[in-house]
Amino acid sequence: MKNLARLLILISIFSIKSEAQEFTKFFEDAVMRIDYIHMGNSVNEEICIDRIFRYEGWSRNNKNLIDPFNNGRYYIRVYSVTAGELIFSKGFDSYFGEYQTSGPAIGGRRKAYHETAVIPFPKDKIRFVVEKRNRMNGFDAIFSQEIDPREPNIIFETLNDPAVRIVKAFTGGDPASKVDIAILAEGFTLSEYDKFVDDLEKFKGYIFEQEPYKSLKQSFNIYGVFKPSVESGTDEPRAGIFRNTILNTTFNSLGSERYLLTEDNKAIQDLAAYVPFDAIYVMVNHKRYGGGGIYNSFCTFTADAQFSKYLFLHEFGHSFGGLADEYYTSSTAYNDFYPTGIEPNEANITALREKEYLKWADLSTPGIEIPTPWEKADYDKMDIEWQEQRAELNNNITRLKKEKADPQIIAMAEADYAMKDKAHSENVDQFLAGSKFTGQVGAFEGAGYVSTGLYRPMLDCIMFTKGDKPFCKVCEAHLIKVISFYAE
Ligand SMILES: [Zn+2]
Repeated sequence: MKNLARLLILISIFSIKSEAQEFTKFFEDAVMRIDYIHMGNSVNEEICIDRIFRYEGWSRNNKNLIDPFNNGRYYIRVYSVTAGELIFSKGFDSYFGEYQTSGPAIGGRRKAYHETAVIPFPKDKIRFVVEKRNRMNGFDAIFSQEIDPREPNIIFETLNDPAVRIVKAFTGGDPASKVDIAILAEGFTLSEYDKFVDDLEKFKGYIFEQEPYKSLKQSFNIYGVFKPSVESGTDEPRAGIFRNTILNTTFNSLGSERYLLTEDNKAIQDLAAYVPFDAIYVMVNHKRYGGGGIYNSFCTFTADAQFSKYLFLHEFGHSFGGLADEYYTSSTAYNDFYPTGIEPNEANITALREKEYLKWADLSTPGIEIPTPWEKADYDKMDIEWQEQRAELNNNITRLKKEKADPQIIAMAEADYAMKDKAHSENVDQFLAGSKFTGQVGAFEGAGYVSTGLYRPMLDCIMFTKGDKPFCKVCEAHLIKVISFYAE
């Protein structure tokens, strides 16, 4: 069996290589941006195409066009109609996909989200297919339509908005063989342009302090893309605060207080189009703790939060690396996010259905017990107590803001929260550092929003707890593979 699996992998690598030389056979040196609407509720979903754009210059990897990672809830697959073969694919997650696991969707409420597929501009007719992962971990097509690149309605857009400014924060080389990161400004007014440039510099520093990015620094290009917002900050709906900003981000996404996202995908794509991006960051000009990351879509983080470095690296772990959350004690808006009994497709969590076949066996500590009997009961007690206290403190701050209390009183409540949050985080670090399993790779129960039945590779990781800390060895190894996919 093992040899057969190896042979299949070799065949698939070989077929990727042979397609690599065929970029010019199937594609022009341009981008096709396919905007579509993704809508429905928890039990049904529909897709329909909105608009299609053309931008000159592909300026991305032209060898690795077939996504080998089998990650994400969805896959885009593009077939040449005349040749009948797969010529481009990409796995991804979507905001709609998360909405499907939320209470309102389960209650039957239908909602529409705007999404985009970015593919090289085909020379001839294509079949554009969106597939969804099923409960057997295979894929079913949920949308399929032919697109003729000669259609007169494809919009040939020139990117010439005079309000947009591009900052080259780091240049590793030709975008075709680099990971190109676009960091978009959100909630920065015109007079805050200098702050955006300073923040960009700060966060560029953070990414290159962290492995594996540090050792692979030359594999990256980083661009800042600035368009001024009318107002500074972002929306805080629970506190009745709404700001007029360029990308329309908001706290309280899917009803979760720290979840910061935007449903305005069109605004993101319009701005990101100014640079050749492989990954999109939305840098939100705000001091409250919040962020979010959706695989191969985008991630957000607040620039001035106490844990902003952590947010920046953790959320990018989701959106760029397709890594799962390893934490399980915080409350989320999801229900049954990882269906019971099904092996999650992310590299860094496992349902451990067969003890003998550990997903990351090649990295595990020799002789370690599987599952690893870590000090979970004590950890849970400490962390769940804090989660309760945290909810109370946050609700109080929200109430003060909503009642338009004295700004000084709000500031004091925020400072008190920040202090307690930091103290808890230090307690957690100390607790985990005291375990005999520190630094070992095994299978630690508690991951992917559930306390039992899912396992993470190490005691701690930046995908598990907050703070200035490394990725675990499994996350790091996976990120290296993703970087080489873009930077080869
Ligand atoms: Zn990890």
